Order: sequence, then C-alpha cells, then structure tokens
Amino acid sequence: MAHTLLNRHVLVLDAGYQPVNIVSARRAMVLICRGRAVPVEESEDIIHSPGAVWRLPRIIRLFIAIASRVYRAVRVQLNRRNVFARDHYTCQYCGSREGPFTIDHVVPRSRRTADHPEGGTTSWENCVTCCAACNHRKGSHLLHEAGMHLLKQPTEPRWLPPIIFRRYLGNGADESWQTYLYI
Ligand SMILES: [Zn+2]
Repeated sequence: MAHTLLNRHVLVLDAGYQPVNIVSARRAMVLICRGRAVPVEESEDIIHSPGAVWRLPRIIRLFIAIASRVYRAVRVQLNRRNVFARDHYTCQYCGSREGPFTIDHVVPRSRRTADHPEGGTTSWENCVTCCAACNHRKGSHLLHEAGMHLLKQPTEPRWLPPIIFRRYLGNGADESWQTYLYI
C-alpha cells in the first residue's frame, strides 16, 4: 500500500509557484526531508515511517526559482498538436477559431525560395495552424501570390508549461494541480 502511494505523482513548483517538474511521492518526501521543499497541498493519505507519520503531498514547492531555466532547457517537440497549441487553435491567416485545422507550410514544401532552397521546411518558423478555407485558398502558393498575410510571425515556443506537463494530465493527474498548470 505504502509502496503504491510513494509512486504517486507529485507536482513540483519553484519558489515563484511556477510548475517545473513532476516527481514520485517518494522523491517529493526526500526533498521535503532535506529541507529543499515544503508541501503546498497534501492528500488525505498517510505514510508511516519509523517514528513519524506523514501526509502524502500532492504539490510541493522548492525554495529556489528555476522555472525560467527549466523552460529554456526544454525544447517543445514540433508536432501538429503543439503547433495548434502555440497558435491557440486559431487560423494564422484569417483568425478563425473554427476547426478542423490543418498545418500549413507557409513556404510550401514544393516551392524553393532564398530562405528555403530545398523547398519549404517543416519547422516552427514555417508551420502554422490553418483553417480548411484558408488552406484551400492558399494551396501551394507563396503568401504574396495568394494575397494572404500571417497574423504573426511563427517562432519556436520557448516555454509552454501546459505543453510540458500535458502528458501527465490525462491519467493520474491530481485535480489540485489545475490551479498551477492552467494559468
Ligand atoms: Zn483561415
């Protein structure tokens, strides 16, 4: 029983209450015992150790501010879901929030330009969220040929905490984490 409890996920915040990691409850207890962190939210579950009784933490907070360092170090994976998230599920040409969306290569893969001598690349800078209507209109044209404009220049996201933590949010996510993961 205690063994299972100690494997539970615990959200780690930094000193500024920014989410920086998810660790096992066992690791969280070690951080608390070493004076590196304090519990922010505890569960009803109790852990017994020789000479002590602990409430299992759900969220702990470190005493140092490391969020910006962590976010800089994490490269957000380039995939459809993350491009949509970066663009806030908004077509980057007409601003429509009506899906379904596709990924549009700003410089089409089949076109060669000075910036894309091998054809449009699949990169953060060349992929944007696009609605079906704009996708149809743009086809394999360059922007100026289609008379279209980007709402903003696409760039690689440097820190997207909700994306970093999303894989933990489906199964086994503690609802007390919501406050810190959806800002
Ligand atoms: Zn559109």
